Amino acid sequence: MIEGNTNVMKKTATIPYYKPVGKEMEIFEHAYNNKISLLLKGPTGTGKSRFVEHMAAVLDKPLYTVSCHEETSATDLIGRFIIKGAETVWQDGPLSLAVKDGAILYLDEIAEARPDVIVAIHSLTDHRRELFIDKRAEKIHAKEGFMLVASFNPGYQKSFKELKPSTKQRFAAISFNYPNESLEAEIISQETNIERDTAVKLVSIATKIRNLKELGLSETASTRLLVNAATLIHSGLPPRLSVKTAIVEPLTDDLEITAALEDMCNLLI
Ligand code: ADP
Repeated sequence: MIEGNTNVMKKTATIPYYKPVGKEMEIFEHAYNNKISLLLKGPTGTGKSRFVEHMAAVLDKPLYTVSCHEETSATDLIGRFIIKGAETVWQDGPLSLAVKDGAILYLDEIAEARPDVIVAIHSLTDHRRELFIDKRAEKIHAKEGFMLVASFNPGYQKSFKELKPSTKQRFAAISFNYPNESLEAEIISQETNIERDTAVKLVSIATKIRNLKELGLSETASTRLLVNAATLIHSGLPPRLSVKTAIVEPLTDDLEITAALEDMCNLLI
């Protein structure tokens, strides 16, 4: 099992905060009602995971989340035989559990996983809605309510971790990106209780960094980094130090770029 990477969230009493940016909530509900798998495309830190948590809570569904990495295999998702005392017993993985439970399964960063994961989900993403467990020579039909959601970062490590077009066509897809400035400031103040003024300044820093294409950063300043900076400021760390620690340092290890970004940020906060 990929313990530590599998997070099972049963019904939550409170609904995690999510501010819609477009029609994504409506699309999710229609995809769910019509048994269509959903692919959330977009850079890291744009609210994809939070959106799925929010929708699972709104629809009152259990949610199984798997953070995929290069070692994640079909066995990790489906399950395996384990030795327990003198016996060999079968242990379901998150995919089998979600299929049997009629739950939402969220495969975060699906392109990172091994190719056999894609093969394993094939029969679940078409009219069959079946999971084949070859180790047990068993076929399970997905319980009513099962939904597969996956996320994918198209720009990340270009051409290395791509999703095949034939895989993408098994999903309906929504693009995620950074919200407009006013919406992003609202999300940050809502998430961290920071004053609106400071949230606006943090967003203006992010906008500047996002436009600095010439720095060649592999990932840019995400909403997640802004939320972290705002959290540090709210807890009393000086604003400039918070920005350096939560925004600049995670983006680059290059000393010159760090210094240049720090100077730029200091003008804005
Ligand atoms: P992703 O899964 O796209 O990498 P997350 O869902 O983990 O990103 O989002 C990172 C953080 O950004 C969240 O924890 C949340 O604080 C914030 N966030 C981003 N977008 C939104 C949004 N639309 N509504 C609420 N919070 C958001």
